[in-house]
Amino acid sequence: MAAVSRPEGRGKPVSKVSCNCPRCPRLVAFRESWRTRQPAWFNAPVPSFGPVAARLLIVGLAPGLQGANRTGRPFTGDFAGELLYATLTRYGFARGDYAAKPDDGLEMVDARITNAVRCVPPENKPLGVEIATCRDYLKATVAEMVNLCAIVALGRIAHDSIVTTLGARLSAFSFSHGASHEINALRLYDSYHCSRYNTNTRVLTEEMFRDVFAAVRAYLDDETATGQQSARAQKPAPGA
Ligand code: URA
Repeated sequence: MAAVSRPEGRGKPVSKVSCNCPRCPRLVAFRESWRTRQPAWFNAPVPSFGPVAARLLIVGLAPGLQGANRTGRPFTGDFAGELLYATLTRYGFARGDYAAKPDDGLEMVDARITNAVRCVPPENKPLGVEIATCRDYLKATVAEMVNLCAIVALGRIAHDSIVTTLGARLSAFSFSHGASHEINALRLYDSYHCSRYNTNTRVLTEEMFRDVFAAVRAYLDDETATGQQSARAQKPAPGA
């Protein structure tokens, strides 16, 4: 395994993304156009959902236009959210009833969801420069999660961005559905994205998706049983 380090600043407060974040001109223009067309929609960078003290972070791609961009909560209101929240609930990472709206009372349990890119991109396709720019927020999200043990990357873009966030080389950790990688005391699980396209084409079946979260559940339960989490929490961060 390549020697890697977590990003500096673990434990520092995350810098929240302004609802008028100006950093990606193309995404700003798209956001503004939707503010005009649908003023009642959220139309802003979508914040992470779930407790900062969680041990699990799930990283999606970017808000869906009529899903998270409309409702303001990751994976809420589009097809991908149906499978994701059902699976999270099944494995104890969420509780309550998912009703595709942010006030449905659904709670994340020891898990948090974020996106590699916080703003909705045209055609659901963020550019490389936008992914790189928004990585500052991904880094801050990882940094503030002091109990973080495991990450699920939904798709290759999320995988690549989180590997880079963790300071590792992409050539050492390639994306493969169902794979897991040890990166500096964190375990990264890869899954195909739970998009409608991937499930309709059966690139990803419900069973394949469940298997990923079953593995994460087993890993975190084992961590709890062996007390490794507390040992890890006491270990000083590299360079600290
Ligand atoms: N909704 C999100 O928030 N992220 C995705 O990757 C897809 C849908």
